[in-house]
Amino acid sequence: MSLSHSRPPISHDDLRAHTRDLWPVPGSGETLRRWSMMSAISAIDLPLAKLVEPHHDAAAILGDLGAPPPGAGEIWAVWASEPPTAVLTATQGTDGWRLSGVKAFCSGASLVTHALVTAETSDGSRLFSIEVGSGTQVGAAGPSWSGPGMSRCGTVTLDLHDVPAQPVGPAGAYVDRPGFWLGAIGIAACWLGGARGVAATLERGSARLDAHGRAHLGAVRSALDTTDLAFEAAADLVDRQALSTSQARRLALSLRGHTAGAVESVISHVGRATGPGPLAFDGAHAEHVADLQVFVRQHHAERDMEQLGSERADDV
Ligand SMILES: Cc1cc2nc3c(=O)[nH]c(=O)nc-3n(C[C@H](O)[C@H](O)[C@H](O)COP(=O)(O)OP(=O)(O)OC[C@H]3O[C@@H](n4cnc5c(N)ncnc54)[C@H](O)[C@@H]3O)c2cc1C
Repeated sequence: MSLSHSRPPISHDDLRAHTRDLWPVPGSGETLRRWSMMSAISAIDLPLAKLVEPHHDAAAILGDLGAPPPGAGEIWAVWASEPPTAVLTATQGTDGWRLSGVKAFCSGASLVTHALVTAETSDGSRLFSIEVGSGTQVGAAGPSWSGPGMSRCGTVTLDLHDVPAQPVGPAGAYVDRPGFWLGAIGIAACWLGGARGVAATLERGSARLDAHGRAHLGAVRSALDTTDLAFEAAADLVDRQALSTSQARRLALSLRGHTAGAVESVISHVGRATGPGPLAFDGAHAEHVADLQVFVRQHHAERDMEQLGSERADDV
């Protein structure tokens, strides 16, 4: 049985429309515009944002690591998840680098043309670019995505066999950059946009709210407005100052933690204000909430807070 409200799958055309142009990269003087673009798509369609954001993250990564930007018509993914159960190994032969093994959480695998993937080398984890699609020895492995939230972004576990790959930067360079953390803030901008989309249901019905409903709406506005201000201040900081990796990490951990908290607060307040009605009878709202609940779990919760609490005070 399929749910009648479920939106159609994301198409190449949907994705092309948002990946055709180069977006301003973090620190370019237009960081807020970049994050606002991610947020705006997310307010309407979180799975689409989940595929658009990595393309623009890939463009920034390629620039940081001295590689050419995505070419015309190309759509890029970033597959860097490294759970212990999925290991991808890179080996160098006479004809260049080849990747074999398993890569988990590959969003948009059937839509993208290229991907940046992390793989294990004898020097540690290193970033590689691969072409995705015809000619690559790629198959599906592992369980298929069966939850409703974020199902439209086509996230699969891939089994790669001897896939030709180009190194992008030396081992360790992908994570050891301020841009790694500024990219992580881009993901939080998507969560924030997603929360605005959830809040829109409450805003639309605001004229009918009782006193408790108005209190919930006030709490929602407070959470979102202060998070917007935090993003504005962060973008201003990133544009004014070339942050070190540890400064960018601290900013990202703080802002991501704050945003994840705001998202959970918005979902809770909107649900308590409106009751089960929209979750039962407004399919678009119910789907958006389900998408956001999954997407925000990319925040590592207390693990990230522990990392923030473990930073040395003089690191920033
Ligand atoms: C919708 C979506 C799309 C994604 N797309 C991409 C993508 O395109 N590219 C990419 O690189 N990454 C993607 N990710 C993955 C993401 O970046 C993280 O790798 C992923 O969220 C897992 O993070 P983690 O392994 O650090 O786990 P954390 O969230 O930090 O921690 C989870 C912990 O729980 C443990 N655990 C898990 N299951 C159980 C259980 N049943 N019982 C007890 N413990 C358990 C795990 O071992 C782990 O220690 C996506 C994630 C989501 C939600």
